[in-house]
Amino acid sequence: MSIIPPNSADRRDVLFHLHSQTNPRLHARRGPLVMTRGEGIHVFDSQGKRYLEAMAGLWCTSLGFSEARLKRAAAEAYDRLGFYHTFSHKTPAVTIDLAEKLVALSPIPEAQAYFATSGSEATETMVKMAWIYHAARGETRRRKIIARDRGFHGSTIVAASMCGLPRMHREFGLPLPGFLHTLCPDPYRGPLPGEDMPRFVARLAAALEAMILEEGPDTIAAFIAEPINAAGGVIVPPEGYFPAIEAVLRRHGILVLADEVVCGFGRTGNMWGSQTVGMTPDMMAMAKGISSSYFPISAVLLGRPIQEAMAEMNKDGEIFGHGFTNSGHPVGAAIALETLRIYEEMDVVPHVRAMGERLRAGLRSIAGRSRIVGDVRGAGLMFAVELVADPATRAGFEPVGRIGARFDAEALNNGLIIRPMGDAIALCPPLIIDAGGVDELLERFDLSLRKVEAEAALETTA
Ligand code: PMP
Repeated sequence: MSIIPPNSADRRDVLFHLHSQTNPRLHARRGPLVMTRGEGIHVFDSQGKRYLEAMAGLWCTSLGFSEARLKRAAAEAYDRLGFYHTFSHKTPAVTIDLAEKLVALSPIPEAQAYFATSGSEATETMVKMAWIYHAARGETRRRKIIARDRGFHGSTIVAASMCGLPRMHREFGLPLPGFLHTLCPDPYRGPLPGEDMPRFVARLAAALEAMILEEGPDTIAAFIAEPINAAGGVIVPPEGYFPAIEAVLRRHGILVLADEVVCGFGRTGNMWGSQTVGMTPDMMAMAKGISSSYFPISAVLLGRPIQEAMAEMNKDGEIFGHGFTNSGHPVGAAIALETLRIYEEMDVVPHVRAMGERLRAGLRSIAGRSRIVGDVRGAGLMFAVELVADPATRAGFEPVGRIGARFDAEALNNGLIIRPMGDAIALCPPLIIDAGGVDELLERFDLSLRKVEAEAALETTA
């Protein structure tokens, strides 16, 4: 039974609009939460209620929801040139500026930038480039991609195949053949009883190598990973994980692809998530923070060996047969350039570290008073707080996801937008958050947790 009034915006949404990552029947009953306005780290719904947006939308609006400089950059770009493309030797001038800027920021030496419009397109583009790389070297059998359990790389068919989350596969008969998944380096749930972190890391590297040997190293093109898994639960890998994994991959000639779509541009307390976790990729995909999501733009940075392979593959005058209409869009490029300028001016990395430490300390102190927080984890300004029935044994609530959904509803009540991932509560506020914003976030988080915890206690005594 629907509680939605007829002819309202809510009703029209239910009738005409299919939502991403939403249960259709539940949506038809509940209707949408309509957002109408943003102000810094806050957004307002159609009833005028104000929320602290502690997820930066979808891990993306690093500069908050009302950055006037981005609006101006867009307006000026539209005044100059509403559209141009990058096919057949052409380009908008501003796209060259953005490419140069990204290469200057790149940890990959002598990189080039390739532009697309979404994170999914960027991760898929890396797969095609990895195939070119091996084909140019005569290794045309190297087609398989190794990704990881609980990884997220996008929603198009190959990107979804690389996801290690069952909800991205279930309805679609994915993953495609040749897309494999190795273990997730989850320090909280991964280690066996009595296994210390160095042994855990060694076991993960050994499992990866066993998979490679079983499949045949000469059939594997690349390995893809988020430096820190975002949607999979904010998993910060244990010390030494990426160096151990990369040693295995290099031994077998497998390319390393970093998915920096969430982690890039300061989010983890360094410019790149790769730097936070000691990853040295051959290519990296970025989106979201590149424009604070004020425009759909993404990019791939590719190293010299990949560039040379592409030249070799097309040495008889063929063209690189890939490209999106809106690759390198001049308005997106102008917004991204201005976004990067703002990061520089605000000195984003030290700011994120300072605010991240304040948030971590606050969450730890809340956790210390709570009987249902099992884990507080994260880096920079990206955290998860995992709610469990028994922190001592790490036993979770049953069924998984119920208490997370309760927390989500309670947080909304309290004007706080978080994201439940099962029973782990993700926090990924805009990077412009200041000390007052962090304190407000903590206060609303604490209020929501107390309510949910009191209810959980009632249930267990009932
Ligand atoms: N990679 C990661 C790590 C992501 O979190 C996402 C989106 N949440 C993507 C890729 C896909 O980006 P998009 O939705 O822009 O295609």
